[in-house]
Amino acid sequence: MNYRHVYHAGNFADVLKHSILALVIERLKRKDTAFRVIDTHAGIGLYALNHGPAERTGEWRDGIGRLIGVEADPIPSRLEPLLQPYLDAVRAENASLADGATITRYPGSPAIARYLMRRGDMLVVNELHPDDHRQLETFFDKDGQVKVLGVDGWHALKSLLPPKERRGVVLVDPPFEEPGELRRITDGLAEARQRFATGTYLLWYPIKDLKPIATFHRTITEVGFGKVLVAEVLIRPARHPEKLNGCGLVIINPPWQLDQDLDALLPFLAKRLAATGLEGEHRLQWLVNKDGL
Ligand code: SAM
Repeated sequence: MNYRHVYHAGNFADVLKHSILALVIERLKRKDTAFRVIDTHAGIGLYALNHGPAERTGEWRDGIGRLIGVEADPIPSRLEPLLQPYLDAVRAENASLADGATITRYPGSPAIARYLMRRGDMLVVNELHPDDHRQLETFFDKDGQVKVLGVDGWHALKSLLPPKERRGVVLVDPPFEEPGELRRITDGLAEARQRFATGTYLLWYPIKDLKPIATFHRTITEVGFGKVLVAEVLIRPARHPEKLNGCGLVIINPPWQLDQDLDALLPFLAKRLAATGLEGEHRLQWLVNKDGL
């Protein structure tokens, strides 16, 4: 386990993943009944950007740094409501932004989910790396609405389903250190469907080369879910398979009208997050869209 998310916190991939996670949670909040967020590969929860690894890589500057802070261009007003839940979660960790200072801390998926949840909603976060798990436990110390686990994420995916509330979202965000991770996602998803077919699932994946992505999409459609949406952003053409050229989220059972939100948001994110001098590309596509399932 060499991957440490702190090197990448707040980069373009986090922006895509976390802005969509926030939109999904906001849509879950439209019903009064409680829901659960399950984060199978959670990281440490909160990341310092002004010192240590994130400061050294500076990846966040071409991610969240392009959306808020002194150097960011304004966000078009028609898109502000779509980005507000996510950016409010980031602002909540950066009081100094109000004084025009720059961003110094970035909330990971656990902190974003926790910020957006209501009293009564639950969060389960799982992280296998012992150091990161310890930090996550400290971050959520004595928080009665959060359960912190330290098991294998694929095991967690099975054992935590279905959630007691029978409503919620499951984020699966593995590090893709080992070959075959796309296949593991599909297998994990098939087992998850047996236990919680109505849940919303967000599956993050990197885009280096396009070929394995086409296979991944095809196998996902075979799992049997009736609604499968894909949202992708490329910050440069996928001509250099050794680079992280883009990333995507498979969204299973997306909340109603999330596709419309993403139709508005993705072109903006692709353009804003694109590698310097490039335009960026996006794709929003229903892989499966059967009504009434
Ligand atoms: N979801 C986090 C966020 O958005 O803020 C980032 C997670 S990071 C991409 C992936 C995490 O998975 C790393 O912190 C890594 O230590 C952890 N990890 C690696 N293998 C794992 C496994 N088998 N089970 C659970 N966690 C694992």
